[in-house]
Amino acid sequence: MDSHVKEIEELIKLISKFPGLGPKSARRVALHLLKNKDTIAKPLSQSLIDVYNKVVRCSICGNIKSKEIKCTIDQCSYHKEKYDKICVVENLADMWVILSGNIFSGYFHVLGGTISSGEKFDQKNLLIDSLIQRVKNNSLKEVIIATSATVEGQTTAHFIEDAIKSSKIKITKLAQGLPVGGEIEQLDDGTLYSAFENRVPVTND
Ligand SMILES: [Zn+2]
Repeated sequence: MDSHVKEIEELIKLISKFPGLGPKSARRVALHLLKNKDTIAKPLSQSLIDVYNKVVRCSICGNIKSKEIKCTIDQCSYHKEKYDKICVVENLADMWVILSGNIFSGYFHVLGGTISSGEKFDQKNLLIDSLIQRVKNNSLKEVIIATSATVEGQTTAHFIEDAIKSSKIKITKLAQGLPVGGEIEQLDDGTLYSAFENRVPVTND
């Protein structure tokens, strides 16, 4: 059913682009916003503007941060604790899953994607050069490659291994306990924990 209000139809169209929201739920969300104009719609519109203007991806560690401050979330700039491990993940959602499970304490490096097999890709975009620098500049003892057990994830893992193996650092991968085709984000804490605990060294050949 069309509302015949162009603004509302546009809003519904945009909301239906959200993951997991079809046209029907998008309509419900739009109506809810309309019903709560002052308490939800107004602050939400401001929040969207703020996020759009102020939140950026850190060009060193790949995490998101506010434009105005230096990256701080146990990441690339100053923090109180010093870690000797760095965990490479595909995306923010994966990092959050690992953080919320209290599975790993150390630095993170968020690639922001994967290399699809056989495709040309932008090494700069995946922050691989930055990862090489971080490994070199910090006294790290181990790089844990926590990419998914998908073809893309594994292709990416191989590429990273090749890129950092000359720095003679210990490289490990989440192998056992990780189901083939498994995406990190979809794993339960128990599986992820055992995948971390049983991580295997990557042979430098
Ligand atoms: Zn950073």
